[in-house]
Amino acid sequence: MGTKGREIVGVDIEELVKLLNKALADEWLAYYQYWVGSRVAVGRMRGIVASELEEHAKEELEHAEKLAERIIQLGGTPLINPQQWRKEANCGYDEPSDPNTRKLVAQNIKGEQCAIEVYQNLHKMVQDKDAITAHLVLEILEDEVEHEEDLEAILADMKTRVS
Ligand code: FE
Ligand code: FE
Ligand code: MG
Repeated sequence: MGTKGREIVGVDIEELVKLLNKALADEWLAYYQYWVGSRVAVGRMRGIVASELEEHAKEELEHAEKLAERIIQLGGTPLINPQQWRKEANCGYDEPSDPNTRKLVAQNIKGEQCAIEVYQNLHKMVQDKDAITAHLVLEILEDEVEHEEDLEAILADMKTRVS
């Protein structure tokens, strides 16, 4: 990263890279949880659930890409071994062992709620100290809030529909 670009970061860069890598681990696990969930889903509103989960998978992958780009800009290295994902993740991985759509959606809501907390905390840390990272985590936070809402709306539909 450029000298001046590094100079304007008002937080400990090493610590920030560490936290961004933890978020990166979360994103990969969220990506896979959604991706595989969209494929194994069975039960109520399967089509709707599968396509929503697939869309979210793509968005989690975009989050991973943005985080990796910022980590590199800061002079860090994105996690290079998938075994680090589970170790470093804040939110873990909720194995979709029950493919029922209602169960999958509930698991993913829990994941989004964890992600919202992670990005809210990151935002608090860099707000007024690192404008670029603050902008990035705010963008991701907006997406996670939207994800939670999309899934809660599906769950509400499941409870009212006869199907
Ligand atoms: Fe995400
Ligand atoms: Fe999300
Ligand atoms: Mg959505």
